[in-house]
Amino acid sequence: MSNNILKLTKKDMDKLYVIGVDMGGTNTAFGIVDRRGDILFRDAISTAEYTTGKDYVDALGEAINNLIARNNLENQIKGIGMGVPNGNMNDGTIANAANISWAKSPEPVQLTKLLEEKTGFPSKLTNDANAAAMGEMEYGSAKGMKDFIVITLGTGLGGGVVSNGQLIVGREGFAGELGHVTAVRHNGRSCGCGRVGCLETYASATGVARTAREFLELNPQRKSLLSNITTRPINSKDIFEAAVAGDELAIEIFEFTGRILGEAFADFIAFTGPEAIILFGGLARADKFLIEPIKKAIEDNVLNMYKGKVAIILSELNDAEAAILGASALAW
Ligand SMILES: [Zn+2]
Repeated sequence: MSNNILKLTKKDMDKLYVIGVDMGGTNTAFGIVDRRGDILFRDAISTAEYTTGKDYVDALGEAINNLIARNNLENQIKGIGMGVPNGNMNDGTIANAANISWAKSPEPVQLTKLLEEKTGFPSKLTNDANAAAMGEMEYGSAKGMKDFIVITLGTGLGGGVVSNGQLIVGREGFAGELGHVTAVRHNGRSCGCGRVGCLETYASATGVARTAREFLELNPQRKSLLSNITTRPINSKDIFEAAVAGDELAIEIFEFTGRILGEAFADFIAFTGPEAIILFGGLARADKFLIEPIKKAIEDNVLNMYKGKVAIILSELNDAEAAILGASALAW
C-alpha cells in the first residue's frame, strides 16, 4: 500500500520530519511530513477492522515503523501528531466515538500512550477541527497569525480556536466545539447532540440540505432546479451546482446559510478578537455564494470596534492532504 512520492536527496538526510495521522471512521491515513508541509511518503491502514483499541494501535504503530524504516528515517522523526474524531487533546484519549466500534464506549482508549509504547516517538492528538487549525498555522493561511479561528464546514461544523498562538482546548479538552453553539434559540432544528438550534444543523453539508427541504416545503409551487430532484434526497452538491447554474432558490439557501454563519461569527469575534476566520472543508467551496452574506451579517452584528477588521478567508491547504498535515503540525 505504500506510495513513495519522491526519493530523499542527500541534503534531506539530516533534516527532521514528523508523522501526521488522519484517523477516519473507515481508514487511517498517515504520512511523513517535512517542515514546509510536503508529505513525502504515505500509507494507510483500516480503522474499522479492529475489535480493540490496543489491536488498532498495534497495527498503526507497526505500519508507521515500517514506513519510517523503508525510507531510512529512523533517526530523523521528531514525533507523531494525530487528528482523531472525539479525540481529547488533554489526555490523548478517544471515547464516545459513535462511528468507530472499538472507541464507542465512554471508557477512554489511551491512544497516544499506546502509540508511544509501540513506536518510541512522542505522540499527541487532537480532534479534526483543532488539527485543521494547527495545519493552517504551521503551513497554511494562518502562517504568522497568533489569533484566528478555523471553521470546518463538512458533514458537520467544527471549530478550532487559536488565541495568542495557543490552541484553546479547555479543561475538559473539548473547547471550540463551535458547531454546537446555539444559532436559533426558538423553534431551532433538532441536533444529534440532543439539543436544538445548533449552528451545524444550519451551516454544514447536512444543514444546507435541510434548508433546501424546508424552503421547498414552504413554497412547493416555486420553480427551482432542486424541485426536479425527486428520486433521492437533495444534497449540498446539488445546491451548489444549482447555484452555479443561477438557480435563485439555491442562491437563497446559501444566503440564508451565510447569514446564520455570519451572525455566529460576530459572537465568536467578541470572544477572542481574532485577526481572521478561516473557512475549510467541502462546503467552503461554495465561497462565491457564502462569503458575501457572511461578511454582511458580521458587519450588521459585530461590535463596532471590530467592523472591517476581521478577514474571512478560505483555506489554502489542499483538501486531500490537509488532515494529515494538520495532525502532523502537532508534532513540531
Ligand atoms: Zn448540537
